[in-house]
Amino acid sequence: MKILVTGGAGYIGSHVVKLLGKRGYEVLVIDNLSTGHKEAVLYGNLEIVDLAGKKEINKVLKEFNPDAVMHFAAAIEVAESVENPAKYYRNNTVNTLNLLESMVDNDIKNFIFSSTAAVYGMPEKVPVKEDSPLNPINPYGQSKAFVEKILNDFDKAYDFKYISLRYFNVAGADPEGELGQSYQNATHLITRALKTAKGEYEKLYIFGTDYPTSDGTAIRDYIHVMDLAEAHILALDYLLKEKKSDIFNLGYGHGYSVKEVVETAKKVTGIDFPVEETDRRPGDPAVLIADSTKAKRVLNWKPKYDNLEFIIKTAWNWELNKKF
Ligand code: UDP
Repeated sequence: MKILVTGGAGYIGSHVVKLLGKRGYEVLVIDNLSTGHKEAVLYGNLEIVDLAGKKEINKVLKEFNPDAVMHFAAAIEVAESVENPAKYYRNNTVNTLNLLESMVDNDIKNFIFSSTAAVYGMPEKVPVKEDSPLNPINPYGQSKAFVEKILNDFDKAYDFKYISLRYFNVAGADPEGELGQSYQNATHLITRALKTAKGEYEKLYIFGTDYPTSDGTAIRDYIHVMDLAEAHILALDYLLKEKKSDIFNLGYGHGYSVKEVVETAKKVTGIDFPVEETDRRPGDPAVLIADSTKAKRVLNWKPKYDNLEFIIKTAWNWELNKKF
C-alpha cells in the first residue's frame, strides 16, 4: 500500500510516518521544509515539494501513484492567522485545492485530512460532536473549514473519498524519544511552558484569566500525538476498506485549564518557572473539548495515553534530548 504524506517532516506528520513505516506501508513524504526537518522522516523517501506548485504535485502523483494521500502540510497558529490571514488562506486552503485538483486529475481519490477543532469556533455545547455547527472564529479555523466544504463537494461531484480528522490540542512526543515538536518559535502552550522551564524564555504568559471557566483560564482537550497518529492509521484502513467519506473528532473528552497545564508542567519538570497573567489572545475560544465517541465506535480507536502528566513527560524528554 503506497501512501503519500504531505508535511511528513513536521510534528504530527512525522509521528504518523513512523507508524506507517513500522506497519509496512510504502511512504513518500513531500514537504517544503518551511517548518519541518528532514531528520524527522524516519521511514520512506522525502522529496522537497511545495504545494503552491501544481506542476510538481502532478509529477509526484504520477510517478508515485499512491493509494491514498495524507495531508498534514499547513500553517497552524491561531494568533498568526489573525495577523496574517492571507498566509492561512493560501497555505491551508488554496494549496490544498491544488493538491485535491491534482489528485482528481490523476484519479487518486482517497484522502485523509488534518482538520481542527477550530472549525467549531465557540461551540454552544461541549463536549463537541461532529454534527455541531461550524462557526470558526479565526482565519486558521476558517481556512480548514473551507477545505472541509471543498471535500464535501468533491465527494459529490468526483466520487472523491475522504476522512477529515478534527484534532483538538495535540501535544507530547514519541514515547520512544525519536520524534517531537521542533519549531523555532513554538507558540503552543505545553511547548512554550517547557521551553520556559528550560530557560529559553524569560517567562510564560497566561493569555486571559477572565474566561467563564472555574479558574478563569481557557480549557482545552490535550491529546497525545501518538494516540492521534494511531487514529490516522485506523482512518486510512477504514477509508480504503469502506470507501466512505466521514468526519471524526479526536480528543479525550475532557479538558484542562491553562493554569492546570502550567501546574502539571512545573510538577513534571521540577522547575518553578516564572509565569505572568496577561490579556486574552485574539481568536481563542474559552472551552474546546471533543466528543470522540464516534471515532471510538466507528474506527475502534482506543487511546492509550490519556494522561496529562505522561503527555508533558514525553514532551519534556524531547525538549531535553532533541534529535533535531
Ligand atoms: N496559551 C497561553 N500561553 C501561551 C500559549 C498558549 O496561555 O504561551 C493558551 C492559549 O491562549 C489557549 C491555550 O493556551 O487558551 C491553548 O493554546 P495553544 O496555542 O496551545 O493551542 P490552540 O488551542 O490555540 O490550538
